[in-house]
Amino acid sequence: MSATLIDGKARAAALRIEIAGDVARLARAPGLAVVLVGEDPASAVYVRSKGKACREAGMLSFEHRLPAGATQAALLALVGQLNADPAVDGILVQLPLPSQIDADAVIAAIDPDKDVDGFHPVNAGRLATGLAGFVPCTPYGCLMLLKDVHESLAGLDAVVIGRSNIVGKPMAQLLIAESATVTVAHSKTRDLPALCRRADILVAAVGRPEMVRGPWVKPGATVIDVGINRVDGKLVGDVAFDEVAAVAGAITPVPGGVGPMTIACLLRNTLLSAQRRQGAAA
Ligand code: NDP
Repeated sequence: MSATLIDGKARAAALRIEIAGDVARLARAPGLAVVLVGEDPASAVYVRSKGKACREAGMLSFEHRLPAGATQAALLALVGQLNADPAVDGILVQLPLPSQIDADAVIAAIDPDKDVDGFHPVNAGRLATGLAGFVPCTPYGCLMLLKDVHESLAGLDAVVIGRSNIVGKPMAQLLIAESATVTVAHSKTRDLPALCRRADILVAAVGRPEMVRGPWVKPGATVIDVGINRVDGKLVGDVAFDEVAAVAGAITPVPGGVGPMTIACLLRNTLLSAQRRQGAAA
């Protein structure tokens, strides 16, 4: 392996310590409400680890569980209560939601100023137009890791594979704001390997185990692997790590790369919300 390993776990731990310090300086502990509908085991693990991270940073975690058969009206009523609750600075509805519930309608019902996931269309619009809002946690975590490697991203060629509202699109917006030259690839993209080979920065957010191979990567490029895929009980990314690490200049591992940054950035958004709301109240 010739690439530098980007240690997201260590970076996230440092960020969480910084956040805890800022939390301690607030008059009131920030509160994050996490809503879980149903019994999806992976979602339950995410919700538990978000709650634990919150408490470790000195924040309050309010967990709300609804049964798998909950109606959309019941979930919307809960979101309405959380919007109105002054102790709640951030609201996160864990996705995916059961099929009887329209996730877009639920996201749209969250107060954009408590939308610490950054999924509300108002926050997507703020990001696209350069206004302050909440940026989705995973791409923001990726950007932090990229900025640790590169003093400036200006003028670099960036390729983002994936165009989801959660990762790919906001990642592209963040890179544009940093003056990178950005191409967004997806399932209809022609000759993806050739496109990737042009990239100084390659972000893979696809959900296909080890899709990005060594020959796709420009020597010295920085590769950020967002993918989390379970193969034979093991977690692997969207990047064939050993092959790509032999060519890239820097690379994130899976696990221990982007994943820990996502939770740290959720805490960061919750802190920002509390700071804004307490500043506004003062
Ligand atoms: P989505 O399924 O919403 O989006 C996947 C994207 O990949 C789509 O835009 C799709 O294209 C594109 N795609 C699929 N197949 C190909 C292909 N063969 N070639 C090129 N592009 C392709 O996934 P998410 O964005 O939500 O997540 C992506 C990955 O990141 C998943 O593994 C997920 O588990 C992981 N993830 C990790 C997080 C973390 O904290 N580390 C947080 C969030 C996600 P099209 O639009 O044309 O269908």
